Amino acid sequence: LGRRINTAFQDLSRQPTVDAGTVDQLLKTVCSALIEADVNVKLVANLRTQVRSEVSALLNDKANANWSDAQRRQRVQKAVFDHLVQLVDPNHGQQKTDPESGAQVASATSGPSDVFKPRKGKPNVIMFVGLQGSGKTTSCTKLALYYQKRGYKTGLVCADTFRAGAFDQLKQNASKNNIPFYGSYTETDPVAISSAGVASFKANRFEVIIVDTSGRHKQEQELFDEMREIDAAVTPDLTIMVLDANIGQAAEAQSRAFKDAAGYGAIIVTKLDGHAKGGGAISAVAATKTPIMFIGTGEHATDLEPFRAQPFISKLLGMGDITGLMDKVEEMQMNGGQERQREMLKKIEEGGTFSIRDWREQLANIMGMGPLSKIAGMIPGMGQLLGGGGGGDDEAAGSKMKRMMYIIDAMTREELDSDGSLFTAPVRHKPTPREAGAVVQHQEASTSGDGSKKKSKKKKKAPTKVRMTARARRVARGSGTSVREVEEFLMQYRMVARMVKQMGGKNSWMRQMSGAA
Ligand code: GDP
Ligand code: MG
Repeated sequence: LGRRINTAFQDLSRQPTVDAGTVDQLLKTVCSALIEADVNVKLVANLRTQVRSEVSALLNDKANANWSDAQRRQRVQKAVFDHLVQLVDPNHGQQKTDPESGAQVASATSGPSDVFKPRKGKPNVIMFVGLQGSGKTTSCTKLALYYQKRGYKTGLVCADTFRAGAFDQLKQNASKNNIPFYGSYTETDPVAISSAGVASFKANRFEVIIVDTSGRHKQEQELFDEMREIDAAVTPDLTIMVLDANIGQAAEAQSRAFKDAAGYGAIIVTKLDGHAKGGGAISAVAATKTPIMFIGTGEHATDLEPFRAQPFISKLLGMGDITGLMDKVEEMQMNGGQERQREMLKKIEEGGTFSIRDWREQLANIMGMGPLSKIAGMIPGMGQLLGGGGGGDDEAAGSKMKRMMYIIDAMTREELDSDGSLFTAPVRHKPTPREAGAVVQHQEASTSGDGSKKKSKKKKKAPTKVRMTARARRVARGSGTSVREVEEFLMQYRMVARMVKQMGGKNSWMRQMSGAA
């Protein structure tokens, strides 16, 4: 998906002018890609209509007549992006009141505590609902650990009496993470267990009490009835629906059905570490006007990330999650790494070059960060670079990256700080004898005027091809790779540099969108 949308944006940036036709073309590609990613068909149709009319109004506005094509392109991209962000952020554009100052503040949801903030010193009951296998039990543990780390006295209640082994699973998860739990091997009434569990934790002054429920019954109606009964028994402060990112077009119907039955106030989307891009999540949020609070990005208890709309959408669009990556890098707390990341971003914002040296640093960081497939999708251009949708074969990706490193390490200081242009020269300037012949022929044909017409037509344009310089051959030799590989490396580096520039520059749409410019 990201790749297709990316290509569409790149095509747009190659168009000499941006008009209604090119905008339609872009929207067509983006929309069919979104539908493929399981965003609801009707939503996509609405998005298309809205963006089209918004953009045409902007382009036709006399006040904007002096816009450059670059500005026009930015506007189109921004319109698409903004509309998608609005879809996953139901609070977007709404004024909120800051409970402390009473002032009207930020328009968008910016973190889990915007959705729900447990009160200290009081019992906060959170109930989980969702289909079996969606990741409820796993997410319950993750959330319990999340609040425990933030100083809340937290406990888990297992109210899944339907599935054999459900209590053992929760017990294991909980013990592994030192989270108190409550459950029973003999009691079969989930309502009785959840009431007793919540009561017991309340009596012991627990602050966050999380109730895990079953997700499967012989009949849907039974499941929904049970959810209502547990809800009535424990009166949760928050109900969370867990949604598997792989759910596809069924997301809308499922999230509506659960909303009607359980009235949940937040969503956790799980398994976003896999191939699913989460198009279904957009449909669920849009259908139920309920915010996503967290995303699940793995099977471990720490694989829970606060949901943020902008990175989510830029990843969906294949623009790469630059903020997510920076977070990861900071998390790693590599010696001085943090400082260097900031310096690099600052430099790019100020119009500097994203040099090969910068690229080396990014690569080194990724390589030191464990599972490549998880990180790759966050880097702009990396999905394409590794030849997949951002994930895939870690080993192949790893060896490819190693070879890239060998190439970089065979470069001189001057070359590292460059934008790579000194490795290539236009064929026109330093032609090989044969190519030189061709160029001369071309010049003769166009200047003499009476050269054969056929010839001048054939050679109408000056050759724009580049060839690799002696430097490139030296690097290939020094790194034990081939000139072809060096050439490929440079191509990929340029692609990444272009995207970094586009996303990180002072006037970039990325910055405008994040409200920073
Ligand atoms: P439940 O039936 O809703 O309680 O689902 P479980 O919590 O038992 O999860 C079902 C399966 O999905 C288990 O194998 C989990 O390890 C896995 N799972 C849950 N969340 C995630 C996630 O975010 N990423 C991945 N890769 N697997 C997950
Ligand atoms: Mg379960």
